[in-house]
Amino acid sequence: MVEVTLKPYDMFVDGEWVSAESKATFDVINPATTEVIAKVPKGGTEDAEKAVDAAREAFDKGRWPRMAPGERAGIILKLADLIEQNIDRLALLETLQQGKPIKLSRDSDFPFAIDNTRFFAGAARCLEGKASTEYNGVATSIIRREPIGLVVTITPWNYPFMMLAWKAIPPLAAGNTVVIKPASVTPLTTLEFAKLTEEAGFPKGVVNVVTGPGATLGESLVTNSKVDVVGLTGDTLTGRRIMELASGSVKRVQLELGGKAPFIVFDDANLEAAAEGAVVGGYVNSGQDCTAATRLYVQEGVHEKFTQMLVERVKKIKLGDPQSRDTDLGPLVSEAQRHKVEDMVASGMSEGAKLLTGGKRPTLLTPFNKGFYYEPTLFIDAKQDMRIVQQEIFGPVLTALPFKTSDEAIEKSNDILYGLASSVWTTDIFKAMKVAGQLKFGCVWINDHLPLVSEMPHGGYKQSGFGKDMSTYTFDDYTDIKHVYVDLTNDARKSWHYTVYGPQ
Ligand code: NDP
Repeated sequence: MVEVTLKPYDMFVDGEWVSAESKATFDVINPATTEVIAKVPKGGTEDAEKAVDAAREAFDKGRWPRMAPGERAGIILKLADLIEQNIDRLALLETLQQGKPIKLSRDSDFPFAIDNTRFFAGAARCLEGKASTEYNGVATSIIRREPIGLVVTITPWNYPFMMLAWKAIPPLAAGNTVVIKPASVTPLTTLEFAKLTEEAGFPKGVVNVVTGPGATLGESLVTNSKVDVVGLTGDTLTGRRIMELASGSVKRVQLELGGKAPFIVFDDANLEAAAEGAVVGGYVNSGQDCTAATRLYVQEGVHEKFTQMLVERVKKIKLGDPQSRDTDLGPLVSEAQRHKVEDMVASGMSEGAKLLTGGKRPTLLTPFNKGFYYEPTLFIDAKQDMRIVQQEIFGPVLTALPFKTSDEAIEKSNDILYGLASSVWTTDIFKAMKVAGQLKFGCVWINDHLPLVSEMPHGGYKQSGFGKDMSTYTFDDYTDIKHVYVDLTNDARKSWHYTVYGPQ
């Protein structure tokens, strides 16, 4: 049995473990039982400044951006090995702070984060720019891809460690330095990550982790003029706020925001596969997933059959102790998140949608009766303009709506402010490809929902944000492209000088 010893944590700034300047702390709780499991520094503006100064110094004067890519890759690969050696302990800690079932954290989140880390260690050695040939006979050009500088990485609470890997490893691999601010409800595995970066041999100041409220500590980081890029995974409202704040010093931002994925089931689909896919894709991580299949558009001929198949499966979902491998669904991350879900369900009912299953808190035994659990829920008879269809719920709540034609399914799917992920279920590949071409989402799965791989980009259209996580496309967000023009003539007067000065 793996155990984690929980103790007061410090933050990691400039290679030192420090408390907040104010000495203030805040509690981290286990959402399955509401027990306090750790105390963490409540950083503020001064702490943000110290972390930014350390990362700035490490970028401007330190070895990290100047190292051969192979040497950087070696350190990142060592980090991946250390995460792997500690996987059982880290996965348990993730489950304790976040509430997700152990089988999801141990067998999915962490192996994927390790794979991401290894992928970027290698990918950063292949950074390419297009260099021209001797294009005009008198000069040549070189393209340099350079790290941008100091990246602030702000991560969410739904996949704390996996998002950390997606958001912090690519900028590091490209030679940037980082200040990471984890979500306040789930900071522990990010602090453990900082320890592993120390052990892996990252030079001091290259990786800094500060903990504290987004509204104060986070905003101090975003507005600091020494910061070059801010990467966020979080709410669309937070993304808008960060864009506003970043505009003061024209910082770049990379945003992966909300989602409300359509899941389109045609009447020729393999309904067994689609029903399994909807349960897995919709209720994963208790629905706290920006790619979750929350809007089920089902062709009218199979709508009733499909929703019945779904209900049969939903009733078999096991809620309970997240540390048990039998548990499918853990609690929501916080009381605030459960209130948000309850508010949305109440709104769906008051607007006239019908509950087929769920819609309430479950009855569980001590100590889980205190946790923030919510039953997996399915609505039918909803209208396209209802809040439950248009807004992100971020809980285990799906809504099934019928459609007649392919065009109607596409129109309704695209009728949303988000554009992150979508899926199409049909046995007709021509139809699937036609629909995929018209969906305004950064990802379209055909006959599956959720799989992501390190080699492929993940990112949004519309108000789901911009920039890409994973794949080599993400380096566009964390590198600058510099054109170096080299005169090859050594002539004092070049052929074009007369256009500015003197005779031809
Ligand atoms: P937030 O967007 O507020 O949190 C994400 C991260 O941003 C956290 O680290 C948070 O810090 C930080 N943050 C918040 N406000 C600021 C700010 N003004 N400046 C800098 N950083 C900031 O999400 P919430 O926790 O409030 O969740 C609300 C909703 O957001 C969810 O119900 C869900 O709909 C959506 N969401 C989407 C996610 C996704 O994967 N796309 C992930 C998480 C949430 P702190 O935790 O200290 O507030």
